[in-house]
Amino acid sequence: MPSSPSFTEPVAEPYGSPARLFVISGPTAVGKGTLVSRVHAAHPEVYVSVSVTTRSPRPGEVDGVHYHFVSEAHFSELVATSGLLEWAEIHGSARYGTPREPVCSALAAGRSVILEIDVQGAQQIRQSIPEAVLVFIAPPNWEALVSRLQGRGAETPAQMERRLQTARHELTLTAEFDKVIVNDELDTAVCELVEFMGL
Ligand code: 5GP
Repeated sequence: MPSSPSFTEPVAEPYGSPARLFVISGPTAVGKGTLVSRVHAAHPEVYVSVSVTTRSPRPGEVDGVHYHFVSEAHFSELVATSGLLEWAEIHGSARYGTPREPVCSALAAGRSVILEIDVQGAQQIRQSIPEAVLVFIAPPNWEALVSRLQGRGAETPAQMERRLQTARHELTLTAEFDKVIVNDELDTAVCELVEFMGL
């Protein structure tokens, strides 16, 4: 993964503290998206990256807001032209990636950035941008994760089993992260994340 010069250059500090790149990661259905939305609502000065994905939109998802929904060919072109900071194929079904340019621009303008991505992506960011801050969102226990995934009702039983297998593995990787936040009670987890990010 090529690194970008923008991460090593000093950046402006219009918001009073140095701009930092935060990676919010963790297993499927742990509530990363809700947590990040809550942090963003309270701190709109932070830039939240919008990923590209080859998966189809779910009902209610808006192109350009939840994801940039792109074709396989378009995604491959982004990979070939180093347009992505990181990318991963997730649950064996679709590819997801972080567009490089908006993240670099936000950091260069002094805005901190949040990437809400999977654990493979977090590991890539750790390699290419060592100064990034990695946060792992964990479920209070295994049963809670299973019931959240079932409650979402968006997957077939086979897809669900695949996601749980991945989650089992991801939960063994928490030591690679700078901080682990247990998402048991949402308000508490939001406060903990905001405090950790220094917002
Ligand atoms: P979903 O299909 O449920 O929206 O997302 C599946 C997984 O993809 C989630 O764990 C989410 O964090 C992850 N994801 C979303 N965008 C990206 C991205 O740009 N890169 C990587 N590596 N993972 C992503």
